[in-house]
Amino acid sequence: MSLDGTYDPDNIFAKILRGEMPAARVFEDDHVLAFMDVFPQARGHTLVIPKRSTARNLLDEAPEVVGPLMLGVQRVARAVRAALNPDGLVITQFNGAPAGQTVFHLHIHIIPRWDGLALGRHGAGGMADIDELKALAAQIAAKIA
Ligand code: 5GP
Repeated sequence: MSLDGTYDPDNIFAKILRGEMPAARVFEDDHVLAFMDVFPQARGHTLVIPKRSTARNLLDEAPEVVGPLMLGVQRVARAVRAALNPDGLVITQFNGAPAGQTVFHLHIHIIPRWDGLALGRHGAGGMADIDELKALAAQIAAKIA
């Protein structure tokens, strides 16, 4: 799907939001939901999505949603840092399939990096163990300030 297209209310993140699909949930408030990426590029790879949104990408999003979304991203990123002590954090977001986007509900990636540890390829990793993801989610959730 290119930059143009129609929001699919049955995309996987919409289903997670509605509780129709499981996810290792980290945090939610009125504006955002954070949960573990099930095909992580690194240990602790977390996704943050706007809750009341039908935006496929950042360009589609209503301006009033972007501010609270980024505040949520900062809050969760700080918790990831506090929980996992990475040397760095990649915070990224893809717009349109040619850019690498595979799920078309706006989302931001928070990916911890450690010196000397290679980053897994986007969209090419194996599925994580769900119990391990739940444990990581609990570790990160405990550090939400
Ligand atoms: P995108 O490629 O659209 O930027 O990112 C989508 C992300 O969602 C990918 O990193 C992929 O691993 C992740 N993902 C795909 N399906 C699922 C799922 O069912 N559950 C979770 N938690 N993550 C998913």
